[in-house]
Amino acid sequence: MSPAHEEFDELVAGHVLGALEGEDASRFAAHLAGGCAACERAVIDYQEALARAAAAVREAPPARVRHALLQRVGEAPARRSRVGQVLAWAASVALAAGIAAAVSGSWVRARYEARLDQLAGEAAGLRAALAAQVQTVFDLRRKLDEQEKTLTLVKAQAAEQERTLALLGDPETRLVSLAGLAPRPQAQGRIIWNARAGGLLVAADLPAPPEGKVYELWAIAGGKPLPAGLFTVDAEGKGRLAVAPLAGVATVDVFAVTLEPAGGVQSPTGAMYLASKQA
Ligand SMILES: [Zn+2]
Repeated sequence: MSPAHEEFDELVAGHVLGALEGEDASRFAAHLAGGCAACERAVIDYQEALARAAAAVREAPPARVRHALLQRVGEAPARRSRVGQVLAWAASVALAAGIAAAVSGSWVRARYEARLDQLAGEAAGLRAALAAQVQTVFDLRRKLDEQEKTLTLVKAQAAEQERTLALLGDPETRLVSLAGLAPRPQAQGRIIWNARAGGLLVAADLPAPPEGKVYELWAIAGGKPLPAGLFTVDAEGKGRLAVAPLAGVATVDVFAVTLEPAGGVQSPTGAMYLASKQA
């Protein structure tokens, strides 16, 4: 750098801080306008350094800081060199104090970074809110599933009651009683039976079937037992079974219930728990 250029080196910091006045300001402006690559690069370096400092501080400088600087410049006896020294010092102080915000371009960048931080914070908040909403949807979905199960059960019960009423209204429907046998003498059963429409078995006081076992209903017609469905009982020993009509069977002589392997069998193998009297 030539000795003639030294005065401009001293003015760069003041220019970037907006602290130059009068002759210094117009001389440096004219120098820049005339095109000086060294000063242009120096201005950019200062602005970038100030922008970094501004990003860290993010506050506008108090007005008195700038006034204090200008006052010190004004008091200097050997004006030009003092201006350079004071402004170089001022620039370093300004970096720490956040006076960088006075440089408008850097100030905009600093504000932009602050806004980005704010957006990042908002995005984190939105993610948390979204996660909460997803959880709510899961909870609602589970409740809905539970309600659908209940509804299915209620519909099945309603359909069974409707069918029972229809059966009872048919003059061909018979009500058959089943009595408990040796394994469980106190057990009882009733069958509403209609040869064309089928029927409904209700059993009571049966013991819970052991693991791997199930109760099977038999319809004995012409001396031959036909499988008529499987059922189990609840904790109170009650069981229900909707019985489909038996193809080609006009009259059932005896209904009986035996304990069979899970999945049922095609002819009875286990102990008989319930049986109707011969019709
Ligand atoms: Zn220059």
